[in-house]
Amino acid sequence: MEGAQRGDSFDELEIMSPEEREKYLNQKLSEAVDNAYQNAPSTREIFDRAGVSPSQIRTVKDLEKLPITRKTDLIELQKSKPPYGGFLTIPEEDVNRVFISPGPIYEPLHAEAVKWFAKTFYAAGFRKGDIALNTFTYHMSPAGILFHEGLRDCGATVIPMGVGSTETQVQTMHDLKVTGFVGTPSFLMTVIKRAEEMGYDFHRDFALRKAWFTGEMLPLSLRKNFEDDYEISTAQAYAVTEPGGCLAYECSQKSGMHFMDDYVVEIVDPETGEQLGPGETGEIVVTPIHNKTWGLIRFGTGDMSYYTTDPCPCGRTANRLVAIVGRAGDATKVRGMFIVTKQAEQVFASFPQISAFQVVVNRKAQRDGMVFNIELKDEAVDQKKLADELNKGFQDMCRVKADKIEFVPKGTIPSEHKTIVDERTWE
Ligand SMILES: [Zn+2]
Repeated sequence: MEGAQRGDSFDELEIMSPEEREKYLNQKLSEAVDNAYQNAPSTREIFDRAGVSPSQIRTVKDLEKLPITRKTDLIELQKSKPPYGGFLTIPEEDVNRVFISPGPIYEPLHAEAVKWFAKTFYAAGFRKGDIALNTFTYHMSPAGILFHEGLRDCGATVIPMGVGSTETQVQTMHDLKVTGFVGTPSFLMTVIKRAEEMGYDFHRDFALRKAWFTGEMLPLSLRKNFEDDYEISTAQAYAVTEPGGCLAYECSQKSGMHFMDDYVVEIVDPETGEQLGPGETGEIVVTPIHNKTWGLIRFGTGDMSYYTTDPCPCGRTANRLVAIVGRAGDATKVRGMFIVTKQAEQVFASFPQISAFQVVVNRKAQRDGMVFNIELKDEAVDQKKLADELNKGFQDMCRVKADKIEFVPKGTIPSEHKTIVDERTWE
């Protein structure tokens, strides 16, 4: 437990029992659906076209009846129904701010809709007395201003830095004794390296002890680098701009990101929209249930992930996204499970004995087959043992295992090759 945090307004929802949470989410979802159907013409059209009435969407499971709306749909709809694509649920004059994402997509927001960002910064340890350097842009994108407000809600002093030059970041961080960094992991490393080039000893000359990241994967090695070499405590969050928010965030355990109770998050089969269970890789689909200015129901993020229901020692009871494993376009479905290229590569990379590999998916007798072709650095290794360990590692990560592992001579796998080759034909 993070002692003092319990009962705090930032996380009172995140400690509901599973039954309470189910009831809460279903209730909020019903309200959001009714509101969107009544006030957003495009949402009404989507429902009507699917032959679904709002009264049929009373639970999270019911969402499966509705199609997924993707970024490309939003862009098209905003062109045909400018400016908000028929998703605005409040009078235009009540819109507090409009963000602009590439597309362009115009995202209207009412200020009250963003209160919950504080939860993620609070969990990362930001408090009164902290001086936070917010390096996300304040122009057009929601990141700068929304994170700024979330940090303020935790009591931290915020420097609205934006992207500025690296030297300016270093100087500001030094002169104002910045304690917390908010930005991407690669940018923080750039700033640290620059500080070292400028002759500073980062640990001695700077007060930076915590960092909050989003917008980019945080590789384990880089995380270790921050934590061990620079003693910076790191936390990451998963944020998506179109539905206006931060959907999941890490706690002090740093093992998976707790879902925020301000959204309904589904992990689905991107082809059918069917909901998947814990441990199964699928697309993250989100429905904001507190942001009632934007009638977006079932927004498909295109990001692939999986979640766990294992209890977390921090005391929060919300399920956790384990990791963002790639994009829906990079996934291959094998025996009902999605294998994301990056995820597969991660498994093979953990076996240093392997110099090259390729996954081949085929179909024989109405069944998907999978073969791993492997080239070894040194052919003297125990191939049987390696094959068993590899297949187990693959199954743990991707939930499906190879039918056959072939050790092929060096040079068999071309140097430029796809990680996963799909040889199936569907006739
Ligand atoms: Zn936790």
